[in-house]
Amino acid sequence: MKPLSKRVTEIHPSMTVEIDTLAKRLSTEGRSIWSLAIGEPNFDTSLHIKEAAINSVNKGLTRYTAPSGMQSFKEAVREKLLKENKLAYTSEQIMATSGAKHAVFNAISAIIDEGDEVLIPTPCWGTYIELVRFCGGVPIALECSIEDNFRLKTEQISKAITPKTKAIILNSPCNPTGVMYNKIELEAMAKEIVKNDLYCISDEIYEHLIYTKEPHISIATFPGMQERTVIVNGFSKTYCMTGWRIGYLAAPLDVTKEIVKMQGQTTHHPSNISQYGAVAALNGPLDSVLMMRQEFSERMYRMGEAFESIENIRFPKPEGAFYLFVDVSAYYGKKTANGTLVSNSIEFCKTLLDEQGVVIVPGAAFGLDSCVRFSFTASLPTISVAMPKFKEFVEGMK
Ligand code: PLP
Repeated sequence: MKPLSKRVTEIHPSMTVEIDTLAKRLSTEGRSIWSLAIGEPNFDTSLHIKEAAINSVNKGLTRYTAPSGMQSFKEAVREKLLKENKLAYTSEQIMATSGAKHAVFNAISAIIDEGDEVLIPTPCWGTYIELVRFCGGVPIALECSIEDNFRLKTEQISKAITPKTKAIILNSPCNPTGVMYNKIELEAMAKEIVKNDLYCISDEIYEHLIYTKEPHISIATFPGMQERTVIVNGFSKTYCMTGWRIGYLAAPLDVTKEIVKMQGQTTHHPSNISQYGAVAALNGPLDSVLMMRQEFSERMYRMGEAFESIENIRFPKPEGAFYLFVDVSAYYGKKTANGTLVSNSIEFCKTLLDEQGVVIVPGAAFGLDSCVRFSFTASLPTISVAMPKFKEFVEGMK
């Protein structure tokens, strides 16, 4: 057989998805597993959202609609952007996608040509790197160190600019670091982005999951930014709708038009049923989101408390999202109580799973091997079993 395309064979699978699949398989095989790996709230989708979706099916609203999404969906997103983000869009600038991941893919496909460089503050969600490569672009990591609490400095943007730089991908609040940029930082970045005529893909999927008094601000609100920014968002995290596969993007009209054309030739549009659910989510109360945020805040505190009693562990306190990105590199080069040598984040996570049944994600999946990611979407009982097991694991290392 002739080989498959380089484009697909060179793409790396999502390590987070692989780890979650492995944990679920081990669990169905009867092993006791405590997973702190997946970025998925352990709450159910709210009743009013489920009912809206069920009603749409019962009413027979199950036909093809426009590739950009249903008008009621785009209107609901338009109102949300105006009310919550102080950004005025027309509904033609907005489109429904099959999750935020698909919105990121659409945006990168529309902007990036072969050889174009894309700046990505790193550690980052690994999908950005793979999708830029898939589209023929060159991901350029802007490395953010733990000493700087993983915050990007504007000078890093200026230093990385070359004639080939086309875009930057920002994710605030950030998966995996929990960094959320403030007004001053965003304003400085925006100036640099405008000065260098870059596109900006701003993934704002964690905007409601924040643990500080500072508000989330979209970078598109700064002068010159809305006309060069593709805002990406979705319902998976805020409304516990991971399996519904529904998200959206808002962009300059010429960008949205091109993406709509592409989506019309590929997925056509995300499921109407999910779009009806999403409209109910946007038009409904935020009570369950606030409750969930409160609960996550408690879990974050409990995890942080557990880490305090463990030596040689470092992490910045997250301002948003639902992860702790923890430097465990002091334990690399050591052997576990069972005699296994651990030299990097993949070996660290694999051995932790083998020996203690605790699942976390290697920092290598996010471009920083010295760290591992803990998700506090798991329940408090799971956290309270997993953390002592983690402590036993590292304390047994010599
Ligand atoms: N963007 C970021 C930063 C994420 O962490 C994730 C999921 O982990 C997504 C997008 C994907 O969201 P969706 O489920 O809407 O595709």
